[in-house]
Amino acid sequence: MFRDLERVLLPMRGRLIHHAEGGTSLQPYGQRPNELIYSISRHRLNQTLLEIACRQPGVTVHFEHRFESAEFDQGIALIRDLRQDRLISVRMQPLLATDGAGSWMRRCMSSMHLIEAHETDLEHGYKELSMPADAAGRHRMACDALHIWPRGNYMLIALPNADGSFTATLFLAKRGEASFESLTETSAIDRFLSRSFPDACELMPDRIEEFKNHPVGFLGTVSASPWHHRGAAALIGDSAHAIVPFHGQGMNCCFEDCVEFDACMAKHASWDRVFAEFGALRKPDTDAIAAMALDNYLEMRERVAHPKFQLQQALSLELERRFPQRFIPRYSMVMFHHEIPYHTALERGAVQAELLAELTAGAVSTLKDIDFERAEREIRARLAPLI
Ligand SMILES: Cc1cc2nc3c(=O)[nH]c(=O)nc-3n(C[C@H](O)[C@H](O)[C@H](O)COP(=O)(O)OP(=O)(O)OC[C@H]3O[C@@H](n4cnc5c(N)ncnc54)[C@H](O)[C@@H]3O)c2cc1C
Repeated sequence: MFRDLERVLLPMRGRLIHHAEGGTSLQPYGQRPNELIYSISRHRLNQTLLEIACRQPGVTVHFEHRFESAEFDQGIALIRDLRQDRLISVRMQPLLATDGAGSWMRRCMSSMHLIEAHETDLEHGYKELSMPADAAGRHRMACDALHIWPRGNYMLIALPNADGSFTATLFLAKRGEASFESLTETSAIDRFLSRSFPDACELMPDRIEEFKNHPVGFLGTVSASPWHHRGAAALIGDSAHAIVPFHGQGMNCCFEDCVEFDACMAKHASWDRVFAEFGALRKPDTDAIAAMALDNYLEMRERVAHPKFQLQQALSLELERRFPQRFIPRYSMVMFHHEIPYHTALERGAVQAELLAELTAGAVSTLKDIDFERAEREIRARLAPLI
């Protein structure tokens, strides 16, 4: 079944930057043939996972059922069957709440002071806009890249779909001068989009209507601790640690949860201990990817357009070629090295960022200007071998 999914994956080898002054440039994600990221239809992936889940022994899927509250003393969850508008009591044996970033279970546990939870909104929201295929059903831009129009305080991105279309997402401030709140009139929306993204506008015939009618999506980071109450209920996935989407790691992080959770189940007989160990193991990593996802927003909407950043990107790939045991770009550690935990990528990434800034300081403007002997000395002193 996963083989079927592989057939609908669209590989993207880098970020294709659409510069404000015109022209494009490609920033590769990695430097090995397998260092690609993939675009996939969310619907297709969900459907496949659901089909696999349904085939497992003991699994019954109930659609249109909403968790509403829990009585922890009695170990009971109250779930509404929406088709019959009927409230059902279900024994928590235990209950694993995978109800996403807006988790109602998390809010229940927090309001009962069983856990501490925080939701930090980003001042920016997002809207999806569509870029249809051409008359022959083909992509109208390169389909092996993630397209970015970085514009400082906002950006547009576009990811390819298998049917020849792209899904574009505009990330913009919710309030303020150029914002979702202030852009309401057709002429203002048109002016903003056509000045900011002239080449993209040619590919978005329905942009004005979509801008007016599509909802503004919420972006934020969820932090909670602990993720469970005794052996009765636990949060897992986005309900425990939703992050902003700028590293493209939210779902992967949730899949990692499943693998770690499985390992904890194999080790302990009591749910309380399974949940406690799972939380202790995962929290440093989910905190780290939350920080890196926020940082990647600045990188995508602003830093990617700067020549110094582009030099540092090229240098980090060169340093990886020369010192593959010690220097791996942070993006590659996160995206292409599953054996490197997120918290290690964050820590080493900070050391590497300092080093890159030092090596490219002042008048250094090309790789030829880099002092590679100094780079080697510093790398050996500051970065222990990883592999
Ligand atoms: C704009 C955007 C772009 C993203 N891009 C990427 C990307 O490129 N790559 C990536 O890896 N991740 C991405 N993510 C993140 C990814 O979507 C999430 O990390 C992932 O879907 C979380 O999985 P989950 O199962 O924990 O929660 P969800 O996928 O949110 O699923 C939660 C489920 O719980 C159900 N539910 C909610 N409340 C209740 C209730 N009270 N009772 C019963 N059921 C309930 C919902 O209907 C839903 O089915 C993106 C997220 C956003 C917002």
